[in-house]
Amino acid sequence: MVYWLAAGEVVWSRLKVRTMDTVWTPGQTRQMETFDTVNPATSEVIATFGVHGQAEVDAAVERAHQAAVWWAGLGWKERRTRLLAWKSHLIRYIGRLAELVHTETGKPLGDAQLEIFLAIVHIDWAARNARRVLRPRRVRSGLAAINQASSVEYPPLGVIGVIGPWNYPVFTPMGSLAYALAAGNAVVFKPSELTPAVGGWLVSSFADVVPEYPVLQLVTGAGPTGEALARSAVSKISFTGSAATARKVMAACATNLTPMIAECGGKDAFLVGADADLDAAADAAAWGAVSNAGQTCIGVERVFVEAEVYHTFLEKLTERMSRARPGDDRESAYGPMTCPAQADIVEDHVADALARGGRAVLGGMQSIRRPYVEPVILADVPETSLAVQEETFGPTVTVTKISGLDEGVALANASRYALGATVFARNKKRAMAAARGIRSGMTGINSVIGFATVPALPFGGNGDSGFGRIHGADGLREFTRAKAITRVRMRSPLNLTTLSRTDKDVTRLLSVATLLHGKRYR
Ligand code: NAD
Repeated sequence: MVYWLAAGEVVWSRLKVRTMDTVWTPGQTRQMETFDTVNPATSEVIATFGVHGQAEVDAAVERAHQAAVWWAGLGWKERRTRLLAWKSHLIRYIGRLAELVHTETGKPLGDAQLEIFLAIVHIDWAARNARRVLRPRRVRSGLAAINQASSVEYPPLGVIGVIGPWNYPVFTPMGSLAYALAAGNAVVFKPSELTPAVGGWLVSSFADVVPEYPVLQLVTGAGPTGEALARSAVSKISFTGSAATARKVMAACATNLTPMIAECGGKDAFLVGADADLDAAADAAAWGAVSNAGQTCIGVERVFVEAEVYHTFLEKLTERMSRARPGDDRESAYGPMTCPAQADIVEDHVADALARGGRAVLGGMQSIRRPYVEPVILADVPETSLAVQEETFGPTVTVTKISGLDEGVALANASRYALGATVFARNKKRAMAAARGIRSGMTGINSVIGFATVPALPFGGNGDSGFGRIHGADGLREFTRAKAITRVRMRSPLNLTTLSRTDKDVTRLLSVATLLHGKRYR
């Protein structure tokens, strides 16, 4: 029986395009609308995929519910073995997958390899830690319930719908896929319509190590396919994308009261203290701003620098960013804008910043040369401008002078986004205070994006950056339902939950309550 589109086959012979007829059961083929995925640098068609509607999505979710029972029944040890086998598969074929990521997103091969390596680190952590984090554990019952044995456990939810973006088509969905699978769920995955081939590759590589049931399935299409998944009988949606889309997904999830995780955009701040290692800070800010053409949810978009070092830092940053050249060749620092419309947004933000009195220290309007955008540094940009308020998602930064880290924290927090942040300062106490003060879900001190490489740490945002957490123990628990169990081990000295309760029982309860909780606290 063929359960899902054999997207992997199309991908192996990369540029061979085939009409995607979906074969759901032997003898039944269906024609459907298709869409192409293209190389953003060359506009070359990579592959063609089916546009899945509600019927196909519902069918995939139904199959997933059966697969979920089998997968959950495999137990921790076998799931761990399968996931580690998947990890090995990915590392063995990292060259092919990286090539595909490069072709579909335009990012340099090295960046694609780094992204896949990080995804592998997460599969490894999720596989090795799922049992420790989620297995049943005893909890203290407390004196009032001393006659009971209490435990909590974290069974899987069932079927998770994962809706992914295109900017990190392996690393980003893996934060949901690996953790949901390790927790014992089946997954129906809808990758971005810009990167379905990478999504298909991941799904077919998983089927190589779990051939028995469609534990991880692919559905393809744009927004309506994602909406169909949110309206289907999934147990939870893990969405990564823009805040605007998250609102639509939430509305669709409301139909069945389906819970969701929202991993949305950011407007990350980067604070530079006067005592910082300015070379290291400029290096980190430059990379954080331009890598992946700035199309990174935790990319550096706003830099705040203490006045004493403002000019020196700006000079160092300009020197580094001016060396970063976009292109499609091996020497280029980053690739094209993956989504053509993103260049328009970058252009709007730069134009608005300049119109409001901002200064282009590096580049300017001429930097937008579709499909590429050259690095842009904007200074003296009013806090009310688009380049400060909205997610730009391009290789641009604003650099603002601050009187101290406190002001930097206040400005960092004056945003509806709160995803990641960076603080550069040598004084540990000052750096930690600033890191704690920023409302972001993650903050790196003296390194940019460092937190994403630590699988044990939770990852997620607040405000318009979303809610819920992927990665780490919190990320595993997101894909489970906490289940509490109490078991009576002896007769209770307090006869309370019975119709035969007497006044004497209540008096005894109040004596115990006074003994336990009556102490006066000041
Ligand atoms: P997007 O919001 O346009 O699309 C994300 C996904 O949602 C795609 O698969 C898309 O097809 C689907 N979708 C679109 N409309 C839908 C609907 N009505 N119902 C259900 N699904 C729908 O985002 P994008 O352009 O693919 O990705 C870029 C955004 O993602 C940026 O804002 C970026 O910051 C964010 N992002 C966040 C993280 C994170 O972990 N917080 C990681 C990567 C990207």
